[in-house]
Amino acid sequence: MWNANDAALKTASLIEFLKERGATAALPLTADRIVVDERVRLKCRVPVCDSFQKNLMCPPFVMSVAEFREVLSRYRESVILQVTEAIAALDGRRPHEEVYASAGRLHELVNLGEKEAFLSGFRFAAGFIGGCCRLCPVCVAAEGGRHCRFPFRARPSLEAMGIDVAATLENVGLPLAFPVRGRVTWTGLILLG
Ligand code: SF4
Repeated sequence: MWNANDAALKTASLIEFLKERGATAALPLTADRIVVDERVRLKCRVPVCDSFQKNLMCPPFVMSVAEFREVLSRYRESVILQVTEAIAALDGRRPHEEVYASAGRLHELVNLGEKEAFLSGFRFAAGFIGGCCRLCPVCVAAEGGRHCRFPFRARPSLEAMGIDVAATLENVGLPLAFPVRGRVTWTGLILLG
């Protein structure tokens, strides 16, 4: 049985946990303020994203937007978190290695936070990262494989689920910080239930 006071205390404790481990921002967000929009998934294909069909945590290998909407409707709370780090100037328009290094730190925090949430009693805790899964230099999907090398660590991104990150951040008053200039911000989410 869901206890709102108990959930609020555990959520506050999770936020402290994430901040102590490097989250630049972490805020509670009721699940009904997470914005899902089919156009986000359209943008995986128009134009075709580099990771489309090449990453097991990206379309077409993840659940449909309709399925995610259904799942999301069962959750009440979440924590949205960000990692922001200063980076050197970008080399022309090419993404810099540092940009992805901080994505890795966000991924680690999402995994840690999801585990902590689970241990505190949120048995359906589920984490989502920013951008595609980069735990491997090349995902097995790019070579035709369908078995993840790190199934307990790999997580899909918010975008892969069809979450409109910009609109969701607006709902909670956090910055999007895009395009990347001088600093990079990666956003993750942990559903709590
Ligand atoms: S852990 Fe490796 S194999 Fe699994 S989805 Fe991520 S990049 Fe692909």
